[in-house]
Amino acid sequence: MRHIAIVGSGPAGYYTAEACRNIFGDGGRIDIIDRMPVPFGLIRTGVAPDHQSIKAVSKRYEAVALTDTVRFVGNISVGKDVSIAELVSLYDAVVLATGAPQDRPLGIPGADLPGVVGSAAFVGWYNGHPDYARLNPSLHGTDAVVIGNGNVALDVARILAKTPEEFAGSDIVAHAREALAQSRIRHITLLGRRGPHQIAMTPKELGELGRLERAGPRIDPTDLPDEGADALLEPGQRKSVMLLREFAANPVARPVTIDFDFYAMPVAIEGEGHAQRVVVERTALDEMGRSHGTGEHYAINASLVVSCIGYQTPVIDGVPYEHGRGRFASDEGRILPGLYCVGWARRGPTGTIGTNKPDGLMIAEKIAQDIGEGADKPGRPGLDALLGQRGVDVITFRDWQNIDAEEVARALPGAPREKFTDVEDMVRAAGKLTGQAAAE
Ligand SMILES: Cc1cc2nc3c(=O)[nH]c(=O)nc-3n(C[C@H](O)[C@H](O)[C@H](O)COP(=O)(O)OP(=O)(O)OC[C@H]3O[C@@H](n4cnc5c(N)ncnc54)[C@H](O)[C@@H]3O)c2cc1C
Repeated sequence: MRHIAIVGSGPAGYYTAEACRNIFGDGGRIDIIDRMPVPFGLIRTGVAPDHQSIKAVSKRYEAVALTDTVRFVGNISVGKDVSIAELVSLYDAVVLATGAPQDRPLGIPGADLPGVVGSAAFVGWYNGHPDYARLNPSLHGTDAVVIGNGNVALDVARILAKTPEEFAGSDIVAHAREALAQSRIRHITLLGRRGPHQIAMTPKELGELGRLERAGPRIDPTDLPDEGADALLEPGQRKSVMLLREFAANPVARPVTIDFDFYAMPVAIEGEGHAQRVVVERTALDEMGRSHGTGEHYAINASLVVSCIGYQTPVIDGVPYEHGRGRFASDEGRILPGLYCVGWARRGPTGTIGTNKPDGLMIAEKIAQDIGEGADKPGRPGLDALLGQRGVDVITFRDWQNIDAEEVARALPGAPREKFTDVEDMVRAAGKLTGQAAAE
């Protein structure tokens, strides 16, 4: 029997479990451990609440979780409740599928002022991640700056721009729904260091900006490169740039504006005790497409600044790490004997949900090459004994289904669910809180 522990129940964790199950069949036992009592990683807490069709991929993961060979072990934080060394001693293979949940630091003066938040925190707030449920972002001013030119920046701008009615059918959490309904933000600026040809925005997500009820995108036509140069772009990118051209050619007058400020590098955030403005340096591109400051500076008002400049994987003691790239150091997923990484923890924060599927298969194949028939390790019963001694409330997949049912039952009419945003509430809904805590 081969015993495999996968740490992290996001797409990379589930695709790895699916591939291991397909390779080992009944000769493998796979535990998917997550620090949250609820599964699916960024499918639940990253993917935008108004993109429900994308979240539907979790149904596929459910099918994996409901087999005898694979189980979900929720509410267990690796590094706190159980160490990597303990897991490696219990399982033939331990796979870190822990994602990249930390914001890359902005690294400019004023980045620590109130009013400045990273996208992991802001997205986690509107998606109900317990770590960020109390973020209370600053929505009292009229101006926001979103730093970054990728799909996450688009998500953030769109969520800030929508009317309460446009959230119908979404699973945006109550605290965010209520705060955004009172938001005074009317001008959103998207800052990109480079130009329209270098955006990392996909056409579907970009196109949505043109269909908002009270908001519209604005683009300075002089920022657009010569149209002939679009032919050199790959088709998806060309489509996105076409959309930018359409937005530039057909400006709409709407009460909420979303300005694309290209060739613009934030160099400082200023304000008296709170963010009030972002100081920006104009950039130019060299022949290699790299941006360089031109020395020309200007300021944009902003009482909310959201940086969407990428993520990093937290360091775990004893696990080799690539500091420059913010991910575990590995040889294509092999970290140390018996220890692997996959998904964003291996590659860094790039690619879509689907990108994690071939990644999961690759790691499962490496595990199969490395562990043979398994080394008679204790596996599941060993983990259960250890967690039992430590008195931790483990959440199983069936427990998660109880949480899920309660969330669905609490939903507003037309909405898929009303999420719990507090770990204790999740554990209580699972029927797992005992004694004093349950009575409170
Ligand atoms: C804001 C945002 C929006 C996105 N929208 C889309 C989209 O619309 N479409 C699309 O295709 N892709 C989208 N993506 C990308 C997609 O979410 C990622 O490709 C994918 O989630 C990465 O999978 P992962 O399993 O590596 O990491 P994650 O999904 O982050 O999963 C990591 C899991 O590990 C767990 N974990 C972390 N540390 C520990 C620990 N110490 N112990 C136990 N468990 C731990 C976490 O709780 C989490 O469940 C989006 C990403 C973001 C950030």
